Amino acid sequence: MVHVGIGYDVHALVEGRKLILGGVEIPHPKGLEGHSDADALMHAICDAVLGALGEADIGHLFPNTDPRWKGAPSRLFLNEAVRLVGFRNGKIVNVDATVIAQAPRLLPHIREMKANIAAALELNIQQVGVKATTNEHLGFLGREEGIAAMAVASVDLP
Ligand code: MG
Repeated sequence: MVHVGIGYDVHALVEGRKLILGGVEIPHPKGLEGHSDADALMHAICDAVLGALGEADIGHLFPNTDPRWKGAPSRLFLNEAVRLVGFRNGKIVNVDATVIAQAPRLLPHIREMKANIAAALELNIQQVGVKATTNEHLGFLGREEGIAAMAVASVDLP
């Protein structure tokens, strides 16, 4: 049976941090604040996979109080989600995500993001959707105070 999960994440944009989305370091004057590398896209996808399993969210599995995850690349979280899927004898069917960023322009990086996410989830690139949109200058995302991502995942479970 195919189970569906949803994920959402947002991180603040601050000076003095690298901007990493989908495992790609993107040139930008600001980066996302967080305990790990703050890759909101990978975090949202991770939560979507965990949600499809009915598991607790990423913050429970990888607490931001744990020094092991300080500065950690978020692909490690996706690796762990894949391990949990395997533990349940499941298979990820696909994931799909949208990043909401007023700036920078993400289109030139989408292909590399997809490749990184596919590699971390042991999927083909065709099983990974990544889109980007602005927030039409509305609200905190539109004012470039942060970047958000939402994702869905479908997981075939016996
Ligand atoms: Mg996060």
